[in-house]
Amino acid sequence: MAFQLFEDQSEFVDKLRQSLKTGKRSILGVASPAFGKTVVASHITNSVRQKDPTSSVWFLVHRKNLLRQTSKSFWQAKIEHGLLTSGKTTSKMPIQVGTIGTVYSRLERLAPPRVLFIDEAHLSRGMMFETVIQWALDGGAIVIGLTGTPIRLDGKPLSGLYEELIEAKSTKWLIEQGRLSDYVAFSTPDMPDISGVKNQAGDYNSSQLADAMDKPQIFGNAVKHWKKYANGLRTVAYCVNVKHSQHTCEAFNNAGIPSVHVDASTTEKELKQACEGLATGKYKVLFNCELVIEGFDLSAQLDGADITLECCMLLRPTQSVARYLQMVFRALRRKPNKAVILDHAGCIMKHGLPCEVREWSLDGADQTKKKKKDGDEPNVNITQCKKCDAVFRTGPEVCPSCGATVTAKPREIKEMEGDLEQIDVEAVRREQKREQGSARGLNELVALGVRKGMKNPSGWAAHVNAARQGRKANKQDYNDAKVILNELRNQNTKRDNDFTI
Ligand SMILES: [Zn+2]
Repeated sequence: MAFQLFEDQSEFVDKLRQSLKTGKRSILGVASPAFGKTVVASHITNSVRQKDPTSSVWFLVHRKNLLRQTSKSFWQAKIEHGLLTSGKTTSKMPIQVGTIGTVYSRLERLAPPRVLFIDEAHLSRGMMFETVIQWALDGGAIVIGLTGTPIRLDGKPLSGLYEELIEAKSTKWLIEQGRLSDYVAFSTPDMPDISGVKNQAGDYNSSQLADAMDKPQIFGNAVKHWKKYANGLRTVAYCVNVKHSQHTCEAFNNAGIPSVHVDASTTEKELKQACEGLATGKYKVLFNCELVIEGFDLSAQLDGADITLECCMLLRPTQSVARYLQMVFRALRRKPNKAVILDHAGCIMKHGLPCEVREWSLDGADQTKKKKKDGDEPNVNITQCKKCDAVFRTGPEVCPSCGATVTAKPREIKEMEGDLEQIDVEAVRREQKREQGSARGLNELVALGVRKGMKNPSGWAAHVNAARQGRKANKQDYNDAKVILNELRNQNTKRDNDFTI
């Protein structure tokens, strides 16, 4: 069955094909929300199956609640598939929609697919993702990661997992085409003081950050702004931690704005009630910290009925551009009116407007904004209206929101320091040790040796494997490893035989 793809979607598929032609096996695709990731994945799945009906294709998500949604899209595209998820036995279906966790726990019993899609690929962190991706690559699979923000939430790069990054059309373009909602953004005039907050794991130390943000004055401002600019709009609000979220929620309720808080410990029933409440208007604001960022889908809670978010309120300062974009993206789904973004966390000044065209790269940096070592300089690209607090791209002489004359002059652009970073040699070594330690058994050791480009991967693997058992490798060990190596090479040559998607 042929799909009618949008032009930008076809263009994206072409880029993928080009990349495969040059021999790349793991590709990270960057696409904004509303690009239609599952539509494109369905298209590729059909195409792969038409070319070779024996090919298997998997689409993996990281949470069970996303599974239902993806599975539904596949059924809508009339793609028969099995589910790789806990509580279900593995079927023999060549096409599977599954969760990373389940695949990880069943690796021993599964054969890698021909094409592996990884959804929300910016979460490709930690052992589970890495192991599954590497296992698939070793088995000759093509891995296609998909994300809106190709950078981990902790700022670390994804280059170890993917060989090339390709981009779909930008958020800005999708807004211009009407596939995403346009927006207006307001920033608080009283920026919270977070100068004393230390860094931790690529972002602010969250308990210190919560102390700085969990204050009646900030709640008060948030309530005031919401009433002024987003009164009645269906809103999702992001806080620093659970307590901060509960406190702010309480302040909104006390101010007569019916609101609800959810977190990871919220039961499924309560979650459903909260989402239903938001859909019906019983609640106006849904408070949370990380839940909605990590791909959690509100509509999935309502058996697919849509909840269109109209406003996004940021109460969580972050150093992570990925986290910031994941927060605001949720409010940009297409709707008749413009979305409203209320920023009480300085995110827009720090990271730019949501539709800023970003130059992503696999080394984890958003090249549009070089790292600064001298603290946070105000963003010269953004002007804040003194009368209505709207923030917009510097340029117009009157505020696009209220029409007031813009008085602020663009600040002088300072020469920025380069972002050369010293390579932490010890960290690289630790990483190598960790990789070696996580390779289970002779099979995986041989595969690791091949991946590392070793001259004699089977000899090395035999040696390490025997050493683990407290002995020296013997002839049998070397022979076993060689057999594995030959099989692996045969398999890869066979699989690499002009395969295309
Ligand atoms: Zn204004």
